[in-house]
Amino acid sequence: MYCPKCGAQNSDSVSFCTQCGASLQSTFQTGFQRPQFQSPSYSSPPKTELPPDNKLVKAILVTIFCCLPFGIISIINAAQVNSKWAAGDYEGARRSAFEADKWANIGLWVGIAVYLIYAILLLIGVGLEGKNI
Ligand SMILES: [Zn+2]
Repeated sequence: MYCPKCGAQNSDSVSFCTQCGASLQSTFQTGFQRPQFQSPSYSSPPKTELPPDNKLVKAILVTIFCCLPFGIISIINAAQVNSKWAAGDYEGARRSAFEADKWANIGLWVGIAVYLIYAILLLIGVGLEGKNI
């Protein structure tokens, strides 16, 4: 640690500055107390802040049109966004919104891939059928 009086570097084990003899223990204590005094202002966000977009519409559309399992994971996370926000878990609400969006996107792309594979198989099937006739 550094001495608050003269700025000299001291080992953490010493309680008095080796340069000027100033007590280092008082600064050690205030260093621990400071975060506790500041923490209340950080836990509550500004009142104007709105909950994050819960992506519920996207999740439902993915469930219906693309991929049921991924859509359900997305809906579960989307449903948690508003309840977590109401309970004061702002970080959790943002994380659930992120997860809902992520799983909706995965479902969307898996759905598109499945449709493409189905279309390719259909075309191959039609081609083989044409040769057999
Ligand atoms: Zn000193």
